[in-house]
Amino acid sequence: MAIILDGKLIRDQILEELQPRVAALTATGRPPQLAVVLIGNNAGSEVYVRNKIAACAKIGILSRKLSPLPTISTEELLAIIQDLNADPSVDGILVQLPLPPQIDAGRVLDAVHPDKDVDGFHPLNSGKLLAGAPGLRPCTPSGVMQILHRYQIPIAGRKAVVVGRSDIVGKPMAILLLAANATVTICHSRTSNLAEECRRADILVAAIGRAEMLGEDHIQPGAVVIDVGMNRVDGRLTGDVDPEAMARLSSAYTPVPGGVGPLTIAMLMSNTVQAAESNKA
Ligand code: NDP
Repeated sequence: MAIILDGKLIRDQILEELQPRVAALTATGRPPQLAVVLIGNNAGSEVYVRNKIAACAKIGILSRKLSPLPTISTEELLAIIQDLNADPSVDGILVQLPLPPQIDAGRVLDAVHPDKDVDGFHPLNSGKLLAGAPGLRPCTPSGVMQILHRYQIPIAGRKAVVVGRSDIVGKPMAILLLAANATVTICHSRTSNLAEECRRADILVAAIGRAEMLGEDHIQPGAVVIDVGMNRVDGRLTGDVDPEAMARLSSAYTPVPGGVGPLTIAMLMSNTVQAAESNKA
């Protein structure tokens, strides 16, 4: 029987561990604060932002939501980011993606001060990740590492295959697994013989964005399968891996929902506390 890796359980542990750190910061009169910039009325983004603000409230992090008009220009948005960068009460800045088409998203994300970059997307933080230096890490892949560590899944010396090479999930995921001494392969849409590559994996991470694309042909019996995918199909949330094949063949797996998803917000909270501790040191 495969072990179900329970993301909600790990999320709750992490949030509980953060509470005394938040309380210690609050006791100094400078509670941690997250500023969230949400533009437009993308239903998915609104839900994500609501959940992020609720998580802040749960553990005592202050939050500030800014909702500029959807017609805002890149320059105007950059001015808002600069104000938040300069505001000492703000420890973390999160710009909810996607941004409206007239906005140069790259310029906006690069404008967030690296010390307040709680999404871990700034090139300076990507560089620190690559160099193995301390810094703010992207939330979803660091959440996956928390699941692996807290379920004591051995990583060193094992073969990890990451399917997906986005800047926010696949690439940082591969670097974190490498830093934990896995032998890492990164696959993408141009990989030939994807199934063969995936079947080599002791740890298989799917971050593709295609509903149930990986199935029994892709899973080595006994592998640990981490399904990062979040796809809406007929109103239902589904991952990138066929759940039946994953449950039957793997030794442990993350379900969708309830696996990796809850960790993303927990790691955002963790990054905000980390940023507050260093910003206020
Ligand atoms: P992107 O669309 O940015 O990247 C998808 C990656 O999958 C690309 O590297 C792409 O390859 C690769 N890919 C696409 N099709 C194939 C294929 N047929 N075979 C092999 N590789 C393929 O997505 P994200 O990284 O942002 O997100 C991936 C998934 O994770 C999505 O379902 C997203 O919703 C989910 N997600 C979940 C989060 C959570 O909290 N659980 C947080 C963030 C994302 P190429 O580079 O060649 O195009």
